[in-house]
Amino acid sequence: MNSTDFSSLKLRSDLLQNLKSLAYTEMTPVQALSLPDILEGKDVIGQGKTGSGKTAAFGLGLLERLDVQRLRIQALVLCPTRELADQVAKEIRKLARSIHNIKVLTLCGGMPFGPQAGSLDHGAHIIIGTPGRIEDHLKRGTLKLNNVHTLVLDEADRMLEMGFQDTLETIIKQTPEHRQTLLFSATFPKQIKKIANSIMLDPVMVKAPSLHDNSIIKQHFYTTSDPYRLTALRLLLQHYRSESTVIFCNTKKETQQVADALIEN
Ligand code: ADP
Ligand code: MG
Repeated sequence: MNSTDFSSLKLRSDLLQNLKSLAYTEMTPVQALSLPDILEGKDVIGQGKTGSGKTAAFGLGLLERLDVQRLRIQALVLCPTRELADQVAKEIRKLARSIHNIKVLTLCGGMPFGPQAGSLDHGAHIIIGTPGRIEDHLKRGTLKLNNVHTLVLDEADRMLEMGFQDTLETIIKQTPEHRQTLLFSATFPKQIKKIANSIMLDPVMVKAPSLHDNSIIKQHFYTTSDPYRLTALRLLLQHYRSESTVIFCNTKKETQQVADALIEN
């Protein structure tokens, strides 16, 4: 048995069995580095790039501690956006497939409030949501966090960038002091260290090594403006002729315009 085998962990057998059925054959570096401490109940700060498998690191931790017989909110995961909350919920549901009757609920803005309050009324074990909407539910009294034993801040750096610091503090104050706190972030600005110090107890720091050497990635920056932007994009694509390309735009509308223009070309 080597140290990247999930079976080297003190995980329930149904969770281990399910990992096999998901074809998770071994732990990713961030999982191998953080899961032993997470499963011991320690507070952990995890740093790892996108795609490094951070969700399963905290997901397995909170599922291992979860008592499905108690229909109380036992774990809260805070994410910066609805899209990220949905992704986390999907992964946690996958990891929890072997636990019958487990209730995982997402609470995000942009969705009607009433049905969320209704679902909360029926009870849930795990809440995954965005800070604004979670705070709303707390204010209206539709959500209680006094049974939470695991609190997760996912993509903490982005939540702070989006100005959620005060909201996070308000939410965290309503969770029990005796809880496990797990914080994941791609970067570690001072602001994160400060918040970590105030909400965590002797956190263990874990940093997953990069999957590639940063020096092999070249970055170029071009300034352009309308009406030349689309032409510039087309010329760059023609110049580099890469096998695949990802283009990020500011808005849904712009994304469509860029896609239409490229298709036409
Ligand atoms: P991060 O949050 O670090 O960006 P995710 O948790 O979203 O990354 O994981 C990225 C992908 O890797 C997901 O599709 C997940 O299902 C998959 N994954 C995670 N851990 C493992 C593993 N141990 N073996 C195989 N696939 C995994
Ligand atoms: Mg993630």
